[in-house]
Amino acid sequence: MAIETTLSILKPDAVRKNVIGQIVSRFEAAGLQVVAAQLRHLSRREAEAFYAVHSERGFFKDLVEFMISGPVFVQALRGEGAIALNRDLMGATDPKKAAPGTIRADFADSIDANAVHGSDSVETARAEVAFFFPTLAIHAR
Ligand code: ADP
Ligand code: MG
Repeated sequence: MAIETTLSILKPDAVRKNVIGQIVSRFEAAGLQVVAAQLRHLSRREAEAFYAVHSERGFFKDLVEFMISGPVFVQALRGEGAIALNRDLMGATDPKKAAPGTIRADFADSIDANAVHGSDSVETARAEVAFFFPTLAIHAR
């Protein structure tokens, strides 16, 4: 497997619950390293641009509203197979279907307020990391 860099966002519900540290600890314990991070409140334009792939979906408006409802903690995570590993640690999109012990099973309340975002492929990881961390060394993406 290759060393990859993926984008992780701790969504407003997770930041409101004061569990940034608990969630980051799970990434670290699994061998992922935080190589860039920022805590900030996204603008509507940023949230719409970040989730543009979902713009035709019925849940898009609610998703954008939720993502701008408070600050988010955005990180680039690096490690062996980081993209799939992060997705495994997150669990299924709907926390009711997320496997026990996953981040969404333990910290998420609903499919809207589901605690975390994670890139889902090599291509989206590259684009999403660049969206938030344009100066992060390209060789390691
Ligand atoms: P994931 O975040 O697991 O990659 P998707 O990329 O399919 O999931 O969707 C992006 C986000 O949009 C989800 O994390 C969730 O917050 C929201 N979402 C997805 N599907 C639904 C749905 N059916 N109803 C409400 N919100 C949804
Ligand atoms: Mg997705």
